[in-house]
Amino acid sequence: MTLLRVTNLSKSFDGVKAVDDVSFDLAAGQLLALIGPNGAGKSTCFNMVNGQLKPSSGSIRLDGVELVGRRPREIWRMGVGRTFQIAATFNSMTVIENVQMALVSRERRLFGLWKPSASWHADEAMALLEQVGMAEHAGRACGVLAYGDVKRVELAIALANRPKLLLMDEPTAGMAPGERNELMALTRRLVTGRKIGVLFTEHSMDVVFAHADKLIVLARGRLIAEGDAQTVRNDARVQEVYLGTGRSFTPRAALEDGVTL
Ligand code: ADP
Ligand code: MG
Repeated sequence: MTLLRVTNLSKSFDGVKAVDDVSFDLAAGQLLALIGPNGAGKSTCFNMVNGQLKPSSGSIRLDGVELVGRRPREIWRMGVGRTFQIAATFNSMTVIENVQMALVSRERRLFGLWKPSASWHADEAMALLEQVGMAEHAGRACGVLAYGDVKRVELAIALANRPKLLLMDEPTAGMAPGERNELMALTRRLVTGRKIGVLFTEHSMDVVFAHADKLIVLARGRLIAEGDAQTVRNDARVQEVYLGTGRSFTPRAALEDGVTL
């Protein structure tokens, strides 16, 4: 079932096409990686889906409903979540308080009005923390957590809003390779049962090939390749973009060449 359908999406900045006629589909429960060299248009695509940028032309439909023209908050209400939406108070609150805040804000979104309750969704918050492996850290201040643990809390916060679609722009930036794989494997476990679609960008080709169901490759705003890891890895245009030669593409070679995606 198609969750997100992007059709002929374009965005120009002062006449320069940052995103140029891009179309793709994302199914519920699917992990779709958006990759491409720096400046390819990945973040611009993300910011059009979440409503922060207005497309020059094209359509973005979530469950058949047009998102173009709606405000970011409305799009969030319709079920488009993001990691990296950390509140300014994040560090001063405990792990569980941050998740409780997200649950409260979801309730306000649904019912308009929030009635204070003693429990503050403590059980549901704890259940989410168990799922991301952070239950034993519930009472600690977020400010003292290790970086990888902050990422797990961010995931719990994103899930508290029960998104249909989760946007993750470079979710593993700054993490060690082992941690990157762990975070994406955890993301997979959490979204599959909930049928959440995930659109993510990622620098490490190893991580992308290991965890994405489908990849789309952008170069200078244009979609140049699409498919599973095998298809994209063997695509001549992709090899050219990343290596500038006809050389066979491997993640190792890309790393040695200092290529960042
Ligand atoms: P990526 O995330 O793939 O690195 P971006 O989407 O950030 O790429 O950028 C795509 C292109 O659009 C780049 O050439 C960038 O300089 C340009 N661009 C992005 N945002 C703006 C902006 N707000 N104003 C002008 N140009 C922009
Ligand atoms: Mg970017």
